[in-house]
Amino acid sequence: MNPSETARETLKRLSLQRILPTPDNYRALYNEIAGTAITEDFPEKSLKALVASLPRNTPEQLRFVRQIESAVSDKKWAGLNTALTDLLNKTAAEPPNWSALIHDLLTRLEARQADLTPARKREALEHVLAASPTPDLLYTRLAGLLKTWSQSAGQESSLAAGVPADAADASAAVPPAPTFTKTTGQSADSAKGSSGELLDLLAQLLESAISTVLADNAELGAEATRLAAAARAAGNADDIAAFIANLKRFSYRLNFAVEDQAELKSGLLHLLHLIIDNINELVLDDQSLQGQIAVVLELVSQPLNLRRLDDVERRMKDVIYKQSALKKSLLNARDQIKQMLASFIDRLADLSESTGDYHDKIERCAEQISQAHDIADLSAVLEDVMRETRLIQLNAQRSRDELMQMRGKVGAAEREIERLQDELANASQMVRHDPLTGVLNRKGMDDALDTEVGRARRHHGKLCLALLDIDNFKKLNDTLGHAAGDAALVHLAKVVREAIRPEDTLARYGGEEFVVVLPDTPLEAAVGAMVRVQRELTKHFFLHNNDRVLITFSCGVAELGADEEGMAAIQRADGAMYLAKRAGKNRVLAA
Ligand code: GH3
Ligand code: MG
Ligand code: MG
Repeated sequence: MNPSETARETLKRLSLQRILPTPDNYRALYNEIAGTAITEDFPEKSLKALVASLPRNTPEQLRFVRQIESAVSDKKWAGLNTALTDLLNKTAAEPPNWSALIHDLLTRLEARQADLTPARKREALEHVLAASPTPDLLYTRLAGLLKTWSQSAGQESSLAAGVPADAADASAAVPPAPTFTKTTGQSADSAKGSSGELLDLLAQLLESAISTVLADNAELGAEATRLAAAARAAGNADDIAAFIANLKRFSYRLNFAVEDQAELKSGLLHLLHLIIDNINELVLDDQSLQGQIAVVLELVSQPLNLRRLDDVERRMKDVIYKQSALKKSLLNARDQIKQMLASFIDRLADLSESTGDYHDKIERCAEQISQAHDIADLSAVLEDVMRETRLIQLNAQRSRDELMQMRGKVGAAEREIERLQDELANASQMVRHDPLTGVLNRKGMDDALDTEVGRARRHHGKLCLALLDIDNFKKLNDTLGHAAGDAALVHLAKVVREAIRPEDTLARYGGEEFVVVLPDTPLEAAVGAMVRVQRELTKHFFLHNNDRVLITFSCGVAELGADEEGMAAIQRADGAMYLAKRAGKNRVLAA
């Protein structure tokens, strides 16, 4: 059965068996008749939306989200399965036993230990409590702390029992020599406690933080480890003096290493800047890359931060995904044009071939004419000529029609390419727009402001900036809900966008605050324009569950001064907006 027969049969059986003709029923029956397996589409879009809403507050969560993200983009159910199974295994592996943990902690906290005073243990405990934002993290860290306490207690008891321990551990537990006690002028016990504590802390610092910083410097890293061991092994004043001398040398070299690293980091950032600038120069005409470059530039011009990096990565991924889809359509359109061109050339070849034939035939006719002896001969030749001419005329007519048709198709394909290219550029600009309202975001506004301020200066034109803030928006959120608040923002942005001129720019400045950039507009006209926007808002109500909700705003308008920065003018507009609020809201004031 061919597909259309199968389709017909499917419809017939649906009606015969009185099955509801839903898409699912149709598909199931169709597959049954055709004997094909039911293949379900991979719900990539919905899964992507789901991934976007997952929390990413801890490294653990971030890792999980990335795992899921890559499975979704590879369209692999197996990958999703692995990620979820891993997660479940992790949570099911060992249910936290809080009561045992707390019990052990309390016991250990009070237990006497030569190298760990209860005060120090309490301090460590407080640190863990303050630095662990989630219960899981807290549990893991408390268990780790308990383990460290138990280990050092274990060393102590093995010494007490006379079991031979390795030299470093044994000397760490030996109290400092009396000479040291004398020089500090403290009692033997407290001196032992504080110097041991300090040495231990230094050892930890050298082993954990400093050797991590020195990951790229093996020699200095090894020195840090050696020093840490020496700190732990220091048993008398001589050991401590030697340790201090070594530590001084080490810190001197460490300074250089850290300076090197800082320089390296700024060098790398500088290089990245250069590369991005270069790419920017190269792709001046490729709008589709400009938005992405702007984001990366913004990122490297601020202190690096993992959260921001992740956020930018997510937004870039969206853009890249959209662009790759668009590029594919673009290539398709180009292929179509190529194909049309190829058939055009074929046609051309046909045409010249047939005209070639025609010439040959006409030449032959001419020869026959010159050799004709009577009218009868001539009329036969003439008939030939007529037939050939009609044939070539027909051929030419057909080719012309086909060519016209092809020209139409090429035009359509070209328009399609143009549209796709625009869309590609728009996709890249997505990162400059506010996802909720679709108007420019803060970054987009900064760029637009720069452009307009530059233009106004060049042309000595008047530029106005209006800042509007919705009145009593908190109350709207509180009474109608946050989703309605969001919808109100979308509504307002739409009404404002439609009420201002095409050359004016609308941007979301903050939560419920918007900025309008009005080029070539003197102050009074700008105030007038914003009053017009106010009137439009009273004409186009925001509808919530079919109820009309009136949204008003207060607005300040400032005209850019001769040497004034754009942002300074916005600040003045903000001041005027504040006065408009004080004066009773729902009004426009000039700064
Ligand atoms: P005023 O008339 O003085 O401007 O009062 P207000 O309530 O509008 O101003 P306020 O600054 O007290 O509150 C602004 C509110 O805007 C608080 C915040 O929850 C809400 N908001 C900010 N951004 C958004 C958003 O994206 N969506 C929603 N639904 N609400 C938002
Ligand atoms: Mg506000
Ligand atoms: Mg407000």
